[in-house]
Amino acid sequence: MERPKVVVSGCLLGELVRHNQGHCRNKLVLSVLYEQAEIISVCPEMGMGMGTPRPTLKLVERDGVTRLVESKLDIDWTDRMNAYANVFRKQYGPNDIHGFVLKSKSPTCGMERVPLTRGQHGAKRDGVGLFAAAMKTAFPYTPIEEEGRLNDDRLREHFIERVFAHHRLAIFLSSDPQPKDLIAFHSRHKMQLMIHDEHRYRELGRLVAQSGSRPFSKLIDDYGTGFKTCLANPSNAKRNANVLSHLAGFFKRGNDGHDRNELASAIDLYRRQQQPLSVPLALIRHHLRHQPHSWLEQQSYLQPYPSHYRIRDFLA
Ligand code: SF4
Repeated sequence: MERPKVVVSGCLLGELVRHNQGHCRNKLVLSVLYEQAEIISVCPEMGMGMGTPRPTLKLVERDGVTRLVESKLDIDWTDRMNAYANVFRKQYGPNDIHGFVLKSKSPTCGMERVPLTRGQHGAKRDGVGLFAAAMKTAFPYTPIEEEGRLNDDRLREHFIERVFAHHRLAIFLSSDPQPKDLIAFHSRHKMQLMIHDEHRYRELGRLVAQSGSRPFSKLIDDYGTGFKTCLANPSNAKRNANVLSHLAGFFKRGNDGHDRNELASAIDLYRRQQQPLSVPLALIRHHLRHQPHSWLEQQSYLQPYPSHYRIRDFLA
């Protein structure tokens, strides 16, 4: 499990699997995942037995159930798609997949706002593609995005951060961890968890404190779920600034007044969204080089994903 595993709609990768034998290769998706993730390509429509070229499909609601049908002949592919999704999900355990990037608007792969027809009233954009819906149910905590949303720096940062955090968690869970290992894992992620959800961060801390007194296998399952749920909440400038101020406190003794003021000012400007997160982070790293601190150095907050991404340069 050297790299995170990310399931990607095959057409986004340039595979000729669309209904018209074409593709919709997406450079951003490829650049986000290139060399950083193990890509699992999937085309569920091909997978369930349709070839190319093939009829187009659409979502239709019948008797309160979303069906996947051919647009022209109304042939129903719902059961075959559900069967394919079931076979696909059974290949993987709950921690084996660390992200999904799925094709938007597709009645199969679209994660939201897919046209869904109800009765005679035409289609409303409130459906979920059938395969995407099955994956959301099977992997409820796994980050899922569509290609267009990855253009947004914040959404892209959050997605990548979660993919790598889920991957670290999966490696940790597969290592037969003992209570002391859970304490170390949680300690390493404290600041990262805090920027997402302080309440859940505290709950996780209480859970870890019970490691010696509760059955450990159940406790660690609960920890994994809580960890993923906590990270699913987007971070914000206020919580980031609070964590940065907390980290700055570690350097108070070693820094002179100028260094302290410079760091405090950088954090304040970031808090007011007048400069990117990368500025106070660069100062923290600078101080850390001059005043090494083992607990700080191992915080995942300071390196949540490979430095190659550099997304925080843009986040104010
Ligand atoms: S959107 Fe999904 S089902 Fe459609 S061509 Fe792409 S991968 Fe295949």
